Amino acid sequence: MQKFKMYIDGEFVEAASGKYFDSYYPFTGKVWSQVAEGGPEDVDRAVKAAHRAFTSGDWAELTASQRGMLVHRLGDLIARDAKKLAEMEVQDNGKLIAEMQGQVNYVPQWYYYFGGLADKIEGSVIPLDKKGYFNFTRHEPIGVVAAITAWNSPLLLLAWKLAPALAAGCTVVIKPSEFTSASTLEFVKLVEEAGFPKGVVNVVTGFGKDVGAPLTSHPLVRKVAFTGSDATGRAINEVAAKTFKRVTLELGGKSPNIVFDDANLEDAVNGAVSGIFAATGQTCIAGSRLLLQESIHDEFMDRLLALAKTAKMGNPMSMETQVGPVTTRPQYDKILSYIDIAKTEGANLALGGGPATRPECGDGWFVEPTVFTGVTNDMRIAQEEVFGPVLSVIKFKDEDEASRIANDIRFGLGSGVWTSDIGRAIRMSEKIQAGTVWVNTYRAVSYMSPFGGYKDSGIGRESGIEAIYQYLQTKSVWINTGAKTGNPFVLK
Ligand code: NDP
Repeated sequence: MQKFKMYIDGEFVEAASGKYFDSYYPFTGKVWSQVAEGGPEDVDRAVKAAHRAFTSGDWAELTASQRGMLVHRLGDLIARDAKKLAEMEVQDNGKLIAEMQGQVNYVPQWYYYFGGLADKIEGSVIPLDKKGYFNFTRHEPIGVVAAITAWNSPLLLLAWKLAPALAAGCTVVIKPSEFTSASTLEFVKLVEEAGFPKGVVNVVTGFGKDVGAPLTSHPLVRKVAFTGSDATGRAINEVAAKTFKRVTLELGGKSPNIVFDDANLEDAVNGAVSGIFAATGQTCIAGSRLLLQESIHDEFMDRLLALAKTAKMGNPMSMETQVGPVTTRPQYDKILSYIDIAKTEGANLALGGGPATRPECGDGWFVEPTVFTGVTNDMRIAQEEVFGPVLSVIKFKDEDEASRIANDIRFGLGSGVWTSDIGRAIRMSEKIQAGTVWVNTYRAVSYMSPFGGYKDSGIGRESGIEAIYQYLQTKSVWINTGAKTGNPFVLK
């Protein structure tokens, strides 16, 4: 049984309590490792170490170029160890090795991009309206950042926070999900190998209430970068407000995937299936509301069901598997309860509808790919995030109705539009209230493209150039080059 310690101030340490908690392999439902169970005392030590590293010592002395090179080197080390890290993620979250390998192989790009950006953050000289002054701006790192991640894509979600935070010159305390801490603790060995000074990156593992809560309320933390549910995001936002911390909140979604009758149906069917069954639906951008134009509804459903029925379930470590287990037991129970809710609400069950009992699923937490038709947008199955392989199909008549249904929800993370009419694609991209609109594709992300939510799906953006400014604050410097000091009792 592997045991993982936390990482504080450049050392792997036990929790102050000396306790460990179990981590499960979702494919077997059995314990595969143990992780140090941190608490407020560990958080305080980690935050103070990060604060020391931020305010004095080697990190604070580095030039932006030197910082960028370290971040870049970290990317190289992740690329070197990607296979091992991906396998560890599968042990923890049960997602497919094909998906996790693809993700972890891509993670270095965030470190390369933001490492390269570190020394390109320039202030401005302001062409002031007042004579006798020289005014310029600088962008300075905000301080200690708390990076809190969800269980579905631990190292990818971490890269979205850590790469810009380090490039900006911040120091970081990471709190991974209690369900998937191992890969982050393995990853942090690479931070050490890359040569980051002690205290710059720390990892405190444990539960939300014992580690996450004290981290977000700690007075020395200046920013919280969070990925997780909207309920936790709201709680964090409230706590962070008390000490005026900045927040980036990447929260949940109930994304509309909209298919018009002029779409290439084969592509759209693939897009609909990928939108909901890839990653077993455990992705914030899942296209969990499929909006179909009435005229193609029946043909589209025939094709979609035919494809979905071929999905191979089973061992997530096999490259052949297409739908793996659900990551956590509570999540498994939650998905099944939503299936019951949909049935009670009167939606028509067209596929699946319960636990998967196929022999290749063993004792794992598997749910059959499930499709409900005849869903109306006011049903709970259309309004609430299930975070599992459950698709709600809703009919619409025309563009106006499609955008009305798409926006009639409190979330606004992803969205898809399938059409061969470029005018319609642009009109829909203007109308949809979501941080991302994919046209004739779905579930594409890049380190260069801003990602984040409208409405209850979050605050702020990750990836792309603007992400680094979420870890910087602007200082305006005024220099008197010859102005008279004048009347001391009025504004200059
Ligand atoms: P949770 O909100 O349950 O947990 C997220 C993280 O917050 C975990 O590390 C959790 O710790 C921690 N946490 C829990 N309570 C607190 C607290 N009071 N203060 C601080 N931290 C706390 O989300 P899940 O892990 O269940 O992830 C699934 C959710 O994440 C879905 O809603 C999904 O849509 C969203 N998500 C959003 C993405 C985006 O980019 N927009 C991407 C991926 C997922 P612990 O695990 O110990 O409870």
